[in-house]
Amino acid sequence: MLRALILTLFPEMFPGPLGVSLAGKALEKGIWALEAINIRDFAEDRHKTVDDSPYGGGTGMVMRADIMGRAIEAAQTRLPGAQLICLTPRGKPLTQAMVETLKNQELILICGRFEGIDERVMAHYNPLEISLGDYVLSGGELAAMALLDACVRLLPGVIGKESALHEESFSTFPSPCRGEGQGGGGANSAGLLEYPQYTKPPSWNGLAVPEVLLSGHHKEIEQWRRAQAENITKARRPDLWNAHAGTGPHKKD
Ligand code: SAH
Repeated sequence: MLRALILTLFPEMFPGPLGVSLAGKALEKGIWALEAINIRDFAEDRHKTVDDSPYGGGTGMVMRADIMGRAIEAAQTRLPGAQLICLTPRGKPLTQAMVETLKNQELILICGRFEGIDERVMAHYNPLEISLGDYVLSGGELAAMALLDACVRLLPGVIGKESALHEESFSTFPSPCRGEGQGGGGANSAGLLEYPQYTKPPSWNGLAVPEVLLSGHHKEIEQWRRAQAENITKARRPDLWNAHAGTGPHKKD
């Protein structure tokens, strides 16, 4: 089961956005579990200091290894065998494939603040280092929330119709009827961006919904969607397109 223990200086940020909507309902139902531990509880001085200035000089403060270490070990006593993760811009960028491997695990998520965490914590505990992307956040909490949100929505019973997950951008699900035109197969079953979606009204501000979608012709709709997904991926994300093109097999319509 997905069970997350967050190590943070701001436990009051949790569950935050994970307490509402689908993730919040799933949390209430016990489909997943979340607990935040305050790193400051492991400080030992009167002022509950958790950081200090960097050796070698420079601006900002660094989170101390000894205090982080005590917090991590307390978390590991609670969840022995949990996957240790440190959110950091120096980590592997989070992908849907990583989310798939993490979604059923017990996770201890370390959220940095200030200039980050003393490097010896990485050397000693060897956490999986994960980045939310190539930009700097002021703390790891939003990154931890994004990771958990991406995991929770994949759990059975969280999103009503499981097939909705199969056709989304980056989806790694094998499509049951890929290329067969049986309907329900995903245009996006192999790491493509999703095709464009439309709903009512059929005409808005002079813009009509593509006719094929109103045709009721399932095979044509599926072909149109697959072509759209491929074109959008080619144009916007050559990196994903190249990876997709390398995975085959491809249906040539
Ligand atoms: N000095 C660091 C940035 C520290 S930001 C550097 O230049 O690399 C403070 C904390 O925010 C980090 O310790 C990390 O936990 C979190 N953080 C910032 N950007 C992040 C990102 N892109 N992904 C994940 N965590 C991030």
